[in-house]
Amino acid sequence: MQDPNGLLSSNRMKKHVVMQSQRTRCESCGRSVPSYDIVNVTSLEHGGRTLCNECCNKEVAALGDLSMFEHVRFEPVRLADCTGAIHEFHFRTRLFGPGVAIDAFELVDNHPAGYRFEIIGDPEGDLLELLSRLIEKIRRGLSTKHLIDRDLGQQIANHQIVRGEIGWDEAEGGSGPLLTIDGHEITWREFGRMLMSFEGWQFKLEIKDKSEEL
Ligand SMILES: [Zn+2]
Repeated sequence: MQDPNGLLSSNRMKKHVVMQSQRTRCESCGRSVPSYDIVNVTSLEHGGRTLCNECCNKEVAALGDLSMFEHVRFEPVRLADCTGAIHEFHFRTRLFGPGVAIDAFELVDNHPAGYRFEIIGDPEGDLLELLSRLIEKIRRGLSTKHLIDRDLGQQIANHQIVRGEIGWDEAEGGSGPLLTIDGHEITWREFGRMLMSFEGWQFKLEIKDKSEEL
């Protein structure tokens, strides 16, 4: 199942704009929640509204007749990477009709940054079981470093596989990506410099949805 990246995930697009700590009031329940927990929803009945993920999920569940769906607020979880560094993951649950996605992300200046993971499951399935599968996925993701520090700067590690996320680079205005590798932002230019250690070699580039296993 793929997240259709439709209207309900519009806060993904906002992440590059909202760079400072902000809280926004949900127009349905009145709670003040962090911007990363807000969804802008437009419907014929209500027009444009700003809802928290929980209220949005409840409306999607009602529209989709998903009576078994129950939104769960997950507390942050702290996990160690392979160097012993601790990462605190926050969670966001998004129902999009045929599936439910749980996103895990770190926070920098109160907005999602660093390591990010996602899992998609049955909207009427056990969300706690889905969360435990997501945590196992995070553990696998944290078990390897793809970049290492060498005398000439950061380089691709000896296993010669790099996994990461493709993001928007404000400085490039969309003409080049900003990668996130090992939870750190790496510009396309920096990554190109690392690749130059392998001049004359071949490479294989495989692109997958964030919810898939790399
Ligand atoms: Zn709400």
